[in-house]
Amino acid sequence: MTAAIADVVLVGGGLASAAAAEAIRQDGFDGRVTLVTDEPHHPYERPPLSKAVLMGDAPPDTAYVHAPDFYADHDIDVVTGDPVTGIDRHAGTVTTASGTERRFDRLLLATGARPRTLPLGAGLDGVVTLRTLDDSVDLGRRLGETRHVTIVGAGWIGCEVAAAARHLGAAVTVVDPLATPLQRVLGPRIGAVFADLHRANGVELRLGVGVTDLRGDDAVRQVVTSDGSTIDTELVVVGIGVVPNTELAERAGLGVDDGVLVDETLVTADPRIFAAGDVASAWHPRYGRRLRVEHWANARHQGAAAGRNLLGAGEVHDRLPYFYSDQYDVGLEYVGLAGTDDDVVVRGDLAAREFIAFWLADGCVTAAMNLNVWDVVEDLEAIVGSGRRVDRSRLADPELPLAEVRS
Ligand code: FAD
Ligand code: NAP
Repeated sequence: MTAAIADVVLVGGGLASAAAAEAIRQDGFDGRVTLVTDEPHHPYERPPLSKAVLMGDAPPDTAYVHAPDFYADHDIDVVTGDPVTGIDRHAGTVTTASGTERRFDRLLLATGARPRTLPLGAGLDGVVTLRTLDDSVDLGRRLGETRHVTIVGAGWIGCEVAAAARHLGAAVTVVDPLATPLQRVLGPRIGAVFADLHRANGVELRLGVGVTDLRGDDAVRQVVTSDGSTIDTELVVVGIGVVPNTELAERAGLGVDDGVLVDETLVTADPRIFAAGDVASAWHPRYGRRLRVEHWANARHQGAAAGRNLLGAGEVHDRLPYFYSDQYDVGLEYVGLAGTDDDVVVRGDLAAREFIAFWLADGCVTAAMNLNVWDVVEDLEAIVGSGRRVDRSRLADPELPLAEVRS
């Protein structure tokens, strides 16, 4: 199969594309590999953009996935600043905004996602989102000059930007319609740990309310919430989730439903076209349904698997979802996928912010999160991955080694 493939085109300049490019060359493919991105940069990782880069603790170029000469050394053409505007499946070509046409034998769609925006405050300066390296540098500068920032959304962006803003000395108010931060992912009990964490670090949380208006002249000056209150502010960061960039796939007649539809080998209904990362809604054999995962590890592993699969490997991608976060002096890792109604069992001390939380459904562990407890993720993966019923008291007992719980 590989012999018939001369041209591989990777659409998107994020981690999924970069991981695919690396895997393709590691597999020994000697045809042409072209990575096309609409951004002005080589592929970079996004986690530092809300952490070290945003706080000015690491220079922006530490976020790059590979050193600048990696692509030349591996004979990978990187085209920057030129969005792919169309895919002609019949001709086997993609076209970019500059009018360039490129043929492909295999195509990867790794176009990621873009921030959801609020339909408020149109034209006001100081209403921003955070997705790109340039956004991060701009937001870091603004935070350094701002006395007060309001963050809309208490999800991952909201929590991490709040921590960075406090580090930079700004006063912070976070607004979210739910009762705790991160409630949709972690549920109310563990969400409350994050409410305490942010309050302990001086963040004002306005929970259970939405934003109904953003006011100002040229720049934003006031946020109005659904309970009629106002917040005087100089900067608004909107972190209310993302929309997958599926338009290219849709226009090409590929299946799309909140993501580009792919099977467990990450291939679309067209055997030449694959998708990976934030944009992919991939069949997951363990869950018996499609998942679209918006986290770093998924982009890295799916990107690499898609790179191998478009050369014919046929590898099933069935890893458990995994993500991490850092906020203030708290670090966490989460593995699995909990339902919103799952029970929570805690091993450790919630108030001291040093614990492992397990989510359970029908006696089986659906997800686990270690917070300020380290070197346990392999055990947690084994416990979640086994799908076996586990005694709650064994999960909660800090004296019982996790290695025994998993065995
Ligand atoms: P993206 O990173 O979105 O890359 C897609 C690329 O394709 C972009 O460069 C985009 O501009 C480009 N593109 C789109 N359309 C076109 C087109 N038509 N033509 C050419 N190029 C196109 N996850 C964690 O697990 N832990 C973290 O701590 C963490 N922190 C994060 C912090 C921030 C600020 C953000 C934004 C995300 C964070 N994530 C984190 C999530 C993680 O970064 C994403 O899941 C990951 O970036 C997805 O990679 P991707 O390659 O699929 O998509
Ligand atoms: P997110 O994690 O999906 O959280 C969005 C939050 O905004 C949710 O709490 C959501 O509540 C809330 N929200 C939605 N509409 C709102 C509104 N109108 N007003 C106020 N709040 C509203 O998305 P994100 O925080 O924007 O992050 C963007 C992307 O980056 C995601 O893909 C995320 O996974 C990724 N990211 C990941 C990490 C990490 O893994 N550590 C860090 C940073 C970013 P509902 O749930 O009720 O809608």
